[in-house]
Amino acid sequence: MDFESLSADLRSLQARALKEIAEVSDPASLEALQIQYLGKKGDLTAVLRGIGALPAEDRPRVGAVANEVGEAVKGALAVRGAELHAQVQALRLASEKVDVTLPGRPVGRGTLHPIPETIAAITEVFGQFGFVVYEGPEVEDDLTNFQMLNMPPDHPARDLWDTLYVDIPGHLLRTHTSPGQMRVMQTTRPPIRALLPGRCFRYEAVDASHGFEFFQVEGLMVDEGTSMADLKGLLDEFAHALFGPRKTRFRPGYYPFTEPSVAFDVECVVCGGVGCPACSKSGWMTILGAGMVHPVVLQYGGIDPERYQGFAFGMGVERIANLRHAVPDLRYYLENDLRFLDQFR
Ligand SMILES: [Zn+2]
Repeated sequence: MDFESLSADLRSLQARALKEIAEVSDPASLEALQIQYLGKKGDLTAVLRGIGALPAEDRPRVGAVANEVGEAVKGALAVRGAELHAQVQALRLASEKVDVTLPGRPVGRGTLHPIPETIAAITEVFGQFGFVVYEGPEVEDDLTNFQMLNMPPDHPARDLWDTLYVDIPGHLLRTHTSPGQMRVMQTTRPPIRALLPGRCFRYEAVDASHGFEFFQVEGLMVDEGTSMADLKGLLDEFAHALFGPRKTRFRPGYYPFTEPSVAFDVECVVCGGVGCPACSKSGWMTILGAGMVHPVVLQYGGIDPERYQGFAFGMGVERIANLRHAVPDLRYYLENDLRFLDQFR
């Protein structure tokens, strides 16, 4: 080994490296070349191992050539690296180019779910008669949900409501919106005109007309001289607003918290009173329950039943929505299927 042959090796290494660097077409291969030529175990280091065999006076000269070769390879790597980076950038810019002349993509607009939409329609009608919306809690206590509504423990009427209890003693998921009446009476003085929409819960098997969760709207009016005639007049206006002009009637009903209690019927919205399967051939459909507030309930609410009278009514929102939109099965309301919901635009 002498100076001439070692320099020749270095020069040929340089020529080979520059050729390969010029031919490389992606950043990863370029990095591999850098390791191959300049790395600790690279080709340049391998050639320089021969330096120890040279006479001492030749070693600095070979060192100078090796430096030149190293710098040349480094320079070529940097130049090619910059070129490749620019190429990649240009490709990316071309592929991500936005054509600002394309027409915009339509943005799907949402719509109110039929249940809150129906609650809004109900609220609007009663709002015109001065009723104000209140909200009660979904987790109620037994006292407010039952006892103060004239259903002491073991009262047989409790069987009308299959109740879901929660892990707090004496508490349950409200079975109806009626306990909201009590909360309004306890915090407001007459005259009272309150509307209480909300979610209710019952331990029910789910089918087309029953759910374990559903919505009700409760109404309460308390004032001096409030009568059944006021109740009938108000409910007539409500039925006409939602279902158009049609006959209505009261039938006797039963609720522990109203006396007397009634079911409020409208002429069948499907057949107009002739009789059809939807109304069981009766020509009538029951849309809500109502009655005069029981004096015991007024007393629990801190209201003197000798001076004030009240009426209350409660309706299932799903039932009203079914009639407005001819929906046959209330399970649709909970499934969030867009094919169903899109029909209410
Ligand atoms: Zn009918």
